[in-house]
Amino acid sequence: MTDTAVTNWAGNITYTAKEVHRPHSLEALRALVAGSARVRVLGSGHSFNEIAEPGAEGVLLSLAGLPGEVDVDTAAGTVRVGGGVRYAELARVVHAHGLALPNMASLPHISVAGSVATGTHGSGVTNGSLASVVREVELVTADGTTVTLARGDRRFDGAVTSLGALGVVTALTLDLEPAYEVEQHVFTELPFAALDAGTLAAVLSAAYSVSLFTDWRSPGFRQVWLKRRTDQLLPDFPYAAPAAEKMHPVPGMPAVNCTEQFGVPGPWHERLPHFRAEFTPSSGDELQSEYLLPREHALDALRALEAIREEVAPVLQTCEVRTVAADAQWLSPAYGRDTVALHFTWIADTAAVLPVVRRVEEALDAFDARPHWGKVFTTAPAVLAARYPRLGDFAALVRELDPAGVFTNAFVRQVLSGPAGGSV
Ligand SMILES: Cc1cc2nc3c(=O)[nH]c(=O)nc-3n(C[C@H](O)[C@H](O)[C@H](O)COP(=O)(O)OP(=O)(O)OC[C@H]3O[C@@H](n4cnc5c(N)ncnc54)[C@H](O)[C@@H]3O)c2cc1C
Repeated sequence: MTDTAVTNWAGNITYTAKEVHRPHSLEALRALVAGSARVRVLGSGHSFNEIAEPGAEGVLLSLAGLPGEVDVDTAAGTVRVGGGVRYAELARVVHAHGLALPNMASLPHISVAGSVATGTHGSGVTNGSLASVVREVELVTADGTTVTLARGDRRFDGAVTSLGALGVVTALTLDLEPAYEVEQHVFTELPFAALDAGTLAAVLSAAYSVSLFTDWRSPGFRQVWLKRRTDQLLPDFPYAAPAAEKMHPVPGMPAVNCTEQFGVPGPWHERLPHFRAEFTPSSGDELQSEYLLPREHALDALRALEAIREEVAPVLQTCEVRTVAADAQWLSPAYGRDTVALHFTWIADTAAVLPVVRRVEEALDAFDARPHWGKVFTTAPAVLAARYPRLGDFAALVRELDPAGVFTNAFVRQVLSGPAGGSV
């Protein structure tokens, strides 16, 4: 048990848990869970809201003390990964076996279990969220026993992007593919005036993974990052000029923090994230929000943001546009629809940022935008219920696996308090 205050990575949340535990064995973890009325797990703490907060009467569990299992099955092309393991550790071991994940988020510092619980994603028109490669999830439920849910189980599609509300994820099994190399090419200055729906679609699909960055100080993208698999063609990119120097997506931050650019090929896990494992990712002093909406609305949604850019720019560090392929997880922000993701790295000032978050939500309202579960949002529960069509099924799954609500916190209660949720 630790007595020191625990905060999230950004430092905007201090958890109020009455106890913080870091068990060193599965047996100790089971006993802690079975003996507690309220439990939440903290992954690597990279979420920006109270999703991991157990409340003042609750217990916060870190799995960082458990053995960091990364068990590759080369014959099956899968890996079993422990509940506290981060992508950086996972990727190193998987790559050493000649295998790979199809995608990663912008940083490798985050835990696998925490990432898939919130629907975390990278980019690529054919790449699903990180949860989409999970084939099996192992949970310690409220009575301390283990439940394993595999693809094909009727509950599986509710069990990976779970907001941490079903139990402690002690292991996940992921699908892998043969290792591959990626080159990163950065371009600068792509004015919005040059974009129609067809051009934007071509830009977003110009490489395996594409990210567009704007600070909204002018109507255009300051940077375009193309991540090309060396086993795929790189078509000409006539829309912007190649960068003259290495870039960081946040203005003013050093490019040395970022993964290799200028088309130098390298292993997938050292190119798919923007930020290198051994450096602070992003700016390190920030809040984040993100909204995911049907890809066919991408241009109209950008135009709606352009209309409020003078309100957005003063509290913004950078805005990133990515794509995510449709997936089947009930609470995935990309559930059932090919998606464009509009991300905002804000300054670290909640009072200044929140009114602008609301303005962004109003601007994107017409596009059925779903908020990222791990970031700052104010979307009302009734709206969430309308935009996440399987929220009611998820609430039923929570009641089935955790009838006493041991893993339900204020965040989850709020999310499920709309018309579809019922009481949890
Ligand atoms: C600098 C930065 C860059 C980011 N880049 C991206 C990005 O590129 N794409 C993107 O989509 N998101 C991005 N995010 C958001 C981030 O991926 C999510 O917030 C993600 O949830 C972080 O994982 P975590 O382990 O830190 O989760 P935490 O914040 O620790 O936890 C998230 C949720 O998972 C639950 N949880 C964690 N571990 C377990 C477990 N073992 N069992 C049960 N429940 C568990 C927690 O209870 C909580 O509900 C970024 C965040 C930061 C700070």
